[in-house]
Amino acid sequence: MKENKINTKKSIFAFCDLCGKNKSVYVRKHSGQNLCSQCYIKSVETIINKTISKYNMLSPDDKIIVALSGGKDSIALLYNLIKIQKNTFNSKPLVAISINEGIDKYSSERIDTAQNFCKKYKISHKIYSFKEEIGKTLYEIIEIKKEDFDFRFPCNYCAIIRRRLLNDIAKDLGGTILALGHNLTDFSETFLMNILYKRFNLIAQKSLSEGNKSINEFYLRKINPLMKLPENEVALYANLNNFEYYKIKCPYRKEYPILRKKVLDFITNLKIHSPEIEFNLFNGFLELSEILNNEYNNSISNNCLICGYPTNNKICNYCKLIDDIG
Ligand SMILES: [Zn+2]
Ligand SMILES: [Zn+2]
Repeated sequence: MKENKINTKKSIFAFCDLCGKNKSVYVRKHSGQNLCSQCYIKSVETIINKTISKYNMLSPDDKIIVALSGGKDSIALLYNLIKIQKNTFNSKPLVAISINEGIDKYSSERIDTAQNFCKKYKISHKIYSFKEEIGKTLYEIIEIKKEDFDFRFPCNYCAIIRRRLLNDIAKDLGGTILALGHNLTDFSETFLMNILYKRFNLIAQKSLSEGNKSINEFYLRKINPLMKLPENEVALYANLNNFEYYKIKCPYRKEYPILRKKVLDFITNLKIHSPEIEFNLFNGFLELSEILNNEYNNSISNNCLICGYPTNNKICNYCKLIDDIG
């Protein structure tokens, strides 16, 4: 607590360490740097640009499809990709895609927010829905699955379907890259979850290096340019830019006591005294996923009997779910 107090005080009275003339609005705890709003915005954009070039995320020939949920992360991501494209000669126009899961007002309001943003920046925006693509809304799926002995939380079903739809839609649109807005906090949280459940295959899957050829054939290359930015920094960036983004969390996430939420709270608590913890987790993920990538991705030998996607079983999770709810 003491540490916190000192930092807050410092942020009110200190001047920006970069320009030296404006008042600081933020102390970057892991570096101790005071930043004014202009320098903060610039520093966030520098981090994004450096991440993109360090990991060779984009080339001028790419056709980028952006998964736009309407939340702060995907809005900040799209805004930066628009800026980057303006400086890239002859680049292909960006396309933003949103998927309506059918979670009541939550899904539709979120998509309205996404739509307004795209209109403002004249970005092509395409909207899809669970209902149209697979015949059922997430709500209807949960109603069916709720009675099952092996019922898992709604987020699991949602993730399986969304992941597949985003990939297939982006491929159909002629995309070469699928850009996602996952931030540093998302990565650390997911990594820690996968450790706790010993899901090493999932850690391997998220590796940034190329998977094996038989897998790449099915999955579009995904990039996460915000992966070096903690969640609170993306939020501050979006607020300082006055972006209109959707702030409400998914009602299912509130309703179900998923472990993910507890893991996030755990990381948030640790961060108070050890702000470097998220970065350590992220770097741990980078190293471990490399090692596991060689081991696991080369061991996937089956193709789903229904859709042909790589899987460790006869039928992939997506097709199994579609069959269950059919
Ligand atoms: Zn400054
Ligand atoms: Zn399948």
